[in-house]
Amino acid sequence: MTSLFHAVIRKQLKAFQLEVELGLDANQGQVLVLFGPSGSGKTMTLKCIAGIAEPDAGFVSIGPRTVFDSHQRLNVRLSERKVGYLPQNYALFPHLTVNQNIAFGLSRWDRGRANRRLNELVRLMQLEGLEKRYPRELSGGQQQRVAFARALAPQPEILLLDEPFAALDTNIRAELRQNLALLSRDLGLPVVFITHDLEEAYMLADRIAVYDQGHVLQCDTRTEVFYHPTSVQTAQLLGIKNLWEGRVLEANMAQRLVLVRTAHADVWASVRPSQFLPPSNFKVTLSMRPENIKIWPMSAKLDSPNCYSGHVTGEVARGSRYTLFFNLGEALSQAEHDLEIEVTAQEYAAMGQQQSTSNIWQISLDPAAIHLIAA
Ligand code: ADP
Ligand code: MG
Repeated sequence: MTSLFHAVIRKQLKAFQLEVELGLDANQGQVLVLFGPSGSGKTMTLKCIAGIAEPDAGFVSIGPRTVFDSHQRLNVRLSERKVGYLPQNYALFPHLTVNQNIAFGLSRWDRGRANRRLNELVRLMQLEGLEKRYPRELSGGQQQRVAFARALAPQPEILLLDEPFAALDTNIRAELRQNLALLSRDLGLPVVFITHDLEEAYMLADRIAVYDQGHVLQCDTRTEVFYHPTSVQTAQLLGIKNLWEGRVLEANMAQRLVLVRTAHADVWASVRPSQFLPPSNFKVTLSMRPENIKIWPMSAKLDSPNCYSGHVTGEVARGSRYTLFFNLGEALSQAEHDLEIEVTAQEYAAMGQQQSTSNIWQISLDPAAIHLIAA
């Protein structure tokens, strides 16, 4: 396996010790997203890879080159690490034109080669016609493309981006995200990308490292991280709302099913072949994605497993989707809810037509769509 980059970093920070190990192998894709709450150590990690900050101990390699090794007292300078680093709240040089900004890192290149590189980047980032403008004469999206061009100019071997789209409008953001996804593929460059936007993380990432308090809670493919978080903490950081704590009542080894008693209901959940099958009495948390819950009007009393009845006690419209708050049981209480359910606008409209006078609904939880987190 060819390593695109590998970093082991230990560094004492004010509030905690940063202690992480990260990397990307060529067969794992190109983009690693660092995701996590503010102040969890993402920026410091990127600075250590770039060579702007120095770990107390650790190791950083980019491709085959080791650029930091505390044992060997090796610390290659930023200018020689071949990294394209775009800091958070980057600033273009206000007194330099677009061309001068992009060419900033090319001062040691010979003139002809620097000019060819400049033209290439202007084309790549679609900045034709803007070459002589100053940053204040550009839109936010254009400024961002110049910043990308500047980071890419010296032909880095890795691109390190610290929340590059955070300050931009939604539509420009979407466009630039798309550009970036294509760009990293075209250039064949590994990218480490920081964001605290879930949707952005999912769109761009081949792999996601979930940060919390200086540690990586989980680092895996985006689907593993989103659909199979290994801890309740990760699930919460990923915004998963339906987390039910319980204990295993009964385990069916042959079918890899467990019956879990929770404060809300008894629920059957399937356990993946790769996953530990918890025995009776074991503490677990059930994680259920709101879009995986089926809901339909109360008809005949259903007795199949994981089918429950209850009330919709609230809703939030989200354009193409609706979030419904659902209470299990017959009694109506507005105060709290057991579940969040997500339906499409179409399904929501259909529900409006089917609504019965009793206003009782049935839901079902597919055992295969329930993810089990062992305590
Ligand atoms: P994030 O990017 O995840 O929001 P940061 O990496 O910026 O988090 O910061 C992590 C923690 O490190 C914060 O508590 C911050 O105050 C602290 N910190 C930032 N820079 C330094 C430094 N140079 N020395 C010590 N602590 C720092
Ligand atoms: Mg940061």
